[in-house]
Amino acid sequence: MAKILLVLYPDPTTGYPPPYARDSLPVVTSYPNGQTLPTPSAIDFAPGELLGCVSGELGLRPWLEAEGHTLVVTSDKDGESSRFEQELSDADVVISQPFWPAYLSPERMAKAPKLKLAITAGIGSDHVDLATAIDRGVTVAEVTYSNSIGVAEHTVMQVLALVRDFIPQHQIVANGGWNIADAVHRSYDLEGMDVGVFAAGRIGRAVIERLSPFGVRLNYTDRHRLPLEVEERYGLTFHDDIRSLVRDVDVLTVHAPLTDETRGLLSDELLGTMRRGSYIVNPARGAIADRDAIVRAVENGQLAGYAGDVWFPQPAPADHPWRTMPHNGMTPHTSGSSLPSQARYAAGTREILESWFAGTPIRPEYLIVEGGRYSGTGAHSYASRPPAPRAAT
Ligand code: NAD
Repeated sequence: MAKILLVLYPDPTTGYPPPYARDSLPVVTSYPNGQTLPTPSAIDFAPGELLGCVSGELGLRPWLEAEGHTLVVTSDKDGESSRFEQELSDADVVISQPFWPAYLSPERMAKAPKLKLAITAGIGSDHVDLATAIDRGVTVAEVTYSNSIGVAEHTVMQVLALVRDFIPQHQIVANGGWNIADAVHRSYDLEGMDVGVFAAGRIGRAVIERLSPFGVRLNYTDRHRLPLEVEERYGLTFHDDIRSLVRDVDVLTVHAPLTDETRGLLSDELLGTMRRGSYIVNPARGAIADRDAIVRAVENGQLAGYAGDVWFPQPAPADHPWRTMPHNGMTPHTSGSSLPSQARYAAGTREILESWFAGTPIRPEYLIVEGGRYSGTGAHSYASRPPAPRAAT
């Protein structure tokens, strides 16, 4: 029997369960590339419930306890005296969400001799030290595609919010004002702009598809080039690297995983090569950007705005400068945790656990690390390697 340590974000401040705005979820029957939605044998929750917080427990407790496993759920994850560190020593499985990541550093993994499986309830497993997972034979899996479309929608929302300068306009109304000149002197149309997408995987491609009808010129880079037919359909200009991409765009959206290659990429130097007054929306990972370089760029006008929902560390400290810098459209890490996404990543987490306990293969698309090497999606999106030829699909 296994001990599963599940780290989730805290409950709503007003108590659990919260009142819900709607009675059902939108109907989604498959992912855009034909990948099937999660296929656990059963679920013990009603889709639409808040599952990602401590009391939601990803709906896992009835099943896990019926199977004889031990489930520990906590949001107390940081520091040596945290419940997470205390429970880690005999945990077989750790489950965490990128929104409230339980950082599995090399030091922490050394304190977890029984740990064999780290599941990301969501997408993006950089909070696990993947090199150490490889060395220690820990399997790392995530619920690929569970929230990709939600993140793409959030990206489009933030691009429009920045370019049109929505947030100050709303504040004018909320404050009882009506000065149109104040409201529009930084407001532009997205139509006619050059947009650059850094990494055209599941999210980046969905952003391309959603922005295409806005009458923009679309550019992208990725180490896997998209099929020619896709490039032609969206009029995409491919760039060999991000340096070439950022020079030619007004809006940059960022969708690569956080790796040794992408950490700190959005630096003073790179930002200095962009057009004055560019916009960046980064819902990938906060550490892809140099925190203070972004602040300098929005303060001196090199960037007209910066938005996203990812920070480092998370939760962001109260004095993180991105909370208060000018022209920011930041949200807490929410884009991938809408109620429909929660239903999918909760079901996908159970699917991964069912496979693990049954000793059957975890779907390759869910795998990041397995058997001491990058595997599945990990081999495609995380492993360090030279640019590959055009993707097959
Ligand atoms: P994906 O695996 O489908 O796509 C990642 C793409 O990045 C791949 O096409 C890969 O080739 C490309 N890539 C990797 N390294 C690169 C590099 N150095 N240069 C150029 N391209 C590179 O993943 P996805 O579902 O599109 O998610 C992308 C990332 O978004 C995740 O890794 C995660 O960090 C982040 N994410 C954030 C949220 C959120 O809630 N904000 C939710 C899901 C994912």
